Amino acid sequence: EVRLDRVSRDFGTLNALRDISLTIRRREFIALLGPSGCGKSTTLNCIAGLLPVTGGAIWLDKHRVDTLRPEERGFGMVFQNYALFPHLNVRQNIGFGLKMRGTLKAEMDRKVDEALSLVRLQGQEHKLPGQLSGGQQQRVAIARAIVIEPPLVLMDEPLSNLDAKLRLEMRAEIRRIHNELGATTIYVTHDQDEALSLADRIVVLRDGVIRQVGTPKELYEQPAHLDVADFMGFRN
Ligand code: ATP
Ligand code: MG
Repeated sequence: EVRLDRVSRDFGTLNALRDISLTIRRREFIALLGPSGCGKSTTLNCIAGLLPVTGGAIWLDKHRVDTLRPEERGFGMVFQNYALFPHLNVRQNIGFGLKMRGTLKAEMDRKVDEALSLVRLQGQEHKLPGQLSGGQQQRVAIARAIVIEPPLVLMDEPLSNLDAKLRLEMRAEIRRIHNELGATTIYVTHDQDEALSLADRIVVLRDGVIRQVGTPKELYEQPAHLDVADFMGFRN
């Protein structure tokens, strides 16, 4: 499990995150949902180690990780803009993290093949990112994040650059991949529908504070505040 214990992050005088406490169970799919500027990316970056926390602690099972470098935490990251290496082909992009870890070629090939098939990109492996559609690029980014078998997968608005049709298709793909793989996942989005259809539990964030945590059903039946119900679109 992953545990955030009173995590805060300030930018100068701005308290971007205030006392965020949250426990994420193994294999759980969590959506971090809230309007622009509420602190979603800041939360994810603090968990990944791309941004130091200014208070509190982050735990992975019995290990405190907020003091570790990102590569020591070893979490899988998927970004909005894919962040693929443009000069490496699909296979090399997916295998990059394994190569960095000194994985032997035979094992690397096997794991990359598995990841390629999981994201359904067999046959595309020699293409460069620039030769792929947005949805295919995002599949590469997902494969690259999961091929290292991370204890935690972090996704920051991975579908927001895709057109509406592809977004729906990839949404289903992300849930299918999660069901097949069962990797603990934190998924950042400002899209209520996306959170409701993907997540086991939703964390509603606003102004750097957790407003409510619950299953889609719990949020629907017992919103903690009217503003949560409004934001979720549960009131007309
Ligand atoms: P969006 O949906 O637009 O991506 P978000 O929920 O991801 O928004 P964050 O990027 O986490 O929001 O930002 C939270 C707050 O912290 C915002 O007020 C933002 O302006 C501020 N902030 C984020 N990064 C920095 C930074 N590097 N320096 C100063 N302020 C920052
Ligand atoms: Mg963001």
